[in-house]
Amino acid sequence: MPASPFACLLFGRAEFHESEEYQAFQFKLLAIVLVSGALFTALFLLGEFSRINPLSGSPHLYSMSAFTAAALILWGLLRGHKERFLWIAWSYECACLLEYVSALAFVPQDELRVLWFFTNIPGVYILLGQRAGAAITTLSVVGLAFGNASLSAPYSPNGLATLIVALVYQGVFFHIYGNRSLSYFARMRASHEKLHHMATHDTLTGVMNARAYYSACEHMILLGRRHGTPFSVLFVDLDHFKSVNDMHGHAAGDAVLKAVAGALRTSIRTSDALGRVGGEEFSIFLPDTDLPGALQLAETIRRGIEQLMPVIESGPLRISASIGVAECRDRGQSMQEIQRQADAAMYAAKQQGRNRVSSLSPQKSAVEPAGAIAL
Ligand code: GH3
Ligand code: MG
Ligand code: MG
Repeated sequence: MPASPFACLLFGRAEFHESEEYQAFQFKLLAIVLVSGALFTALFLLGEFSRINPLSGSPHLYSMSAFTAAALILWGLLRGHKERFLWIAWSYECACLLEYVSALAFVPQDELRVLWFFTNIPGVYILLGQRAGAAITTLSVVGLAFGNASLSAPYSPNGLATLIVALVYQGVFFHIYGNRSLSYFARMRASHEKLHHMATHDTLTGVMNARAYYSACEHMILLGRRHGTPFSVLFVDLDHFKSVNDMHGHAAGDAVLKAVAGALRTSIRTSDALGRVGGEEFSIFLPDTDLPGALQLAETIRRGIEQLMPVIESGPLRISASIGVAECRDRGQSMQEIQRQADAAMYAAKQQGRNRVSSLSPQKSAVEPAGAIAL
């Protein structure tokens, strides 16, 4: 889904893979925290200038101005750059701690300024993780315990004890919650991936099922059209496969299908797509490949299947396949039309005696393999 103009303004054009869902959330949250941090401090500065909330020339005014500028600069650096996330998040955390210490030291009339140390902790746990959260909680506790005496208006021993216990409580609470929710998220992600794999892959051979394969092809056709590159489709149908089942049993047939799928997988590039589109029928989509290239690969595959000799209970079995090849020349052709052409070419290969490669173009004579192998 295209990002809204507001999202583009706030986050820039950072792109995240489907598997980086949590990182995308952290990135967006950091951008929001940076902007809102700058806005809130700017509001305090406005309170000073309008004399609603005067700080009477306190040095804290300078640190608030510097903090606002730093948050805005960090936001500008973060927009569209997910690889900068970690150092920007840490820089902002350091700026926050300096800002809170400055408030403690220079704004004694604000008794509640210590609350900023509390609001800081959840953000650290979410943006920087468990270890950073524990470290910042410890730093806040130790800093307050030892720094209290140097404040111009120190908190009472009772007040300090409450602050420290509450900080520790909050840190421990977020630590446990963060741990649980992250492990829950990881398990959800893993089970989602497993379900997605089951829905898109053939359980017997492990290659894409027909629906996922055709959908991947449509996607690659769109990309190919954009770049004006040709593509080809190979349609592989095992010869006399029914007799493998009839003579050796269904389990032997399954073993042959697995062996063939494995051989096909190793014959293609990672950018190609392979799907089991029928019982003993496989289709291979070759992006950026013209007819001569596709015919050459088809012949390599045909020979590979011929030499595969999958071992079944009764010993090694000789198998063969007929392969139809189609190239997309007309840029408006749909996947269905190309697949139909490859299908017709495969049918022609069967007619010519099986165990051969065929295309419905004049180039089909480029490959003339041996005749059929009877099982
Ligand atoms: P041709 O050379 O004309 O392609 O003959 P063929 O026997 O390969 O073609 P046909 O379409 O008649 O037979 C396909 C067979 O594939 C029929 C079916 O029993 C078998 N088959 C389909 N799916 C599976 C499967 O998952 N496992 C096994 N073992 N066999 C399957
Ligand atoms: Mg068939
Ligand atoms: Mg067949």
